[in-house]
Amino acid sequence: MTDSDIIKLTATEIAGLIASGEVSALEVTEAHLARIEAVDEKVHAFLHVDHEGALAQARAVDARLAKGERPGPLAGVPLALKDAFTTRGVPTTCGSRILEGWIPPYDATLTRRLKDAGTVILGKTNMDEFAMGSSTENSAYGPTRNPWDLTRVPGGSGGGSAAALAAYEAPLAIGTDTGGSIRQPAALTGTVGVKPTYGSVSRYGLVAYSSSLDQGGPCARTVADTALLHAVIAGHDPMDSTSIDAPVPPVVEATRHASAAGMRVGVVREFAGEGYQAGVMQRFEESVDLLRELGAEVVEVSCPSFTYAMPAYYLIAPSECSSNLARFDAIRYGLRTGDDGTRSAEQVSALSRAAGFGPEVKRRIILGTYALSSGYFDAYYGSAQRVRTLIIQDFARAFAQVDVLVSPTMPTTAFPLGERVDDPVAMYRADLCTIPVNLAGNAAMSLPCGLSPEDGLPVGLQIIAPAMADDRLYRLGAALETALAERRGHRPLDGAPAL
Ligand code: GLN
Repeated sequence: MTDSDIIKLTATEIAGLIASGEVSALEVTEAHLARIEAVDEKVHAFLHVDHEGALAQARAVDARLAKGERPGPLAGVPLALKDAFTTRGVPTTCGSRILEGWIPPYDATLTRRLKDAGTVILGKTNMDEFAMGSSTENSAYGPTRNPWDLTRVPGGSGGGSAAALAAYEAPLAIGTDTGGSIRQPAALTGTVGVKPTYGSVSRYGLVAYSSSLDQGGPCARTVADTALLHAVIAGHDPMDSTSIDAPVPPVVEATRHASAAGMRVGVVREFAGEGYQAGVMQRFEESVDLLRELGAEVVEVSCPSFTYAMPAYYLIAPSECSSNLARFDAIRYGLRTGDDGTRSAEQVSALSRAAGFGPEVKRRIILGTYALSSGYFDAYYGSAQRVRTLIIQDFARAFAQVDVLVSPTMPTTAFPLGERVDDPVAMYRADLCTIPVNLAGNAAMSLPCGLSPEDGLPVGLQIIAPAMADDRLYRLGAALETALAERRGHRPLDGAPAL
């Protein structure tokens, strides 16, 4: 099998071929490292490629297989890990200068689970600084480019992970989703991404942005691969106080029993209208028609409070970040500036924060500190929390009527690099359809539903399920994926230009 055959395989195929001895984990890893070498200069999906570490992990898998052991369900499958998770002995920057040079002394629970499952971690992927952004342009290390069109953004904040999948640099990737950072880049790159139910994937070792919203999750090129990864990373962790102590929903089984028949699907009325690109709506509506043909019962559902989700999110997330990012004080981690013996610890800390945080992070720390200040707490943070309750109630009413909700993942396709960097509010609008899910703690998936006729770029469809019903995403998502592929005659990424 040639390198170019190997990189096109799904994770499911790779796991099967390695387990049966048809290809070695080392060959698979080498093929992906060569691909990264060949294309990542253009794409910039990775901040750090762990060449030696990946080869060592692959050799260890091959050695265990040779001894007749079964080294985990994803043995030898390469993976791209968002640089928000700690990796023992491997740099973790979270896209920020303030963590430049920091080598974590421990693995995140998610990292540990990936290793236990036998995955080969190729390296750490680019992201908006501290996961704040919708385009990966806020990375302190330069933007990632969309493999579909290198002049466009891959979405954010997990643009590196999504671009790595779309550029065939890895068959699996991990993202984090605070307001859409897994789903939104998935939509813009023609890949699949899932934000699991809040509390179902451990946050231990995930650099905190907004703790009540952050959630790690799986990314891949197919729904079935996403499910395999989901099953590996989810589950209770005593190291995370918000971790749910309950069985993981049967996500892998759900893809095997894919079906839309009899499912009650709600189309969210509020996710349409001004600001939604015509081609995005066209592909979305065609997919809804297809769901009807597949036997789903489709109704329109209204969630009036969703209109206020964006302003509420942009008070809650900065408030939490202003508290979480206080730990970067130049004493405990990373960058230290101006420590020449003449300055106080406070002065060194202030200089280091001025030099180490980028403009968007500073904007949010200031906004969050203001929103939490005693004179304004009730007017801003308090109101935002009340809106959050209304959104939760809207979801509860909707899920009394339907099994899942659907919407476009993003109002538009991938926008040009530079278009929104100087207009934070335009950037924030990219998360209009994804944010309510984080505020309520539900589960949601984005999967490719075609190319927009205006620009030939991928469109994502979002499926939303109630908390701990993540399996519904996979049951419906896999059914839609198959039906769309039959209609189109090829896989979503086959439409992308060669790099
Ligand atoms: N774009 C949103 C933000 O900037 C969401 C980011 C995320 O999910 N990490 O906060």
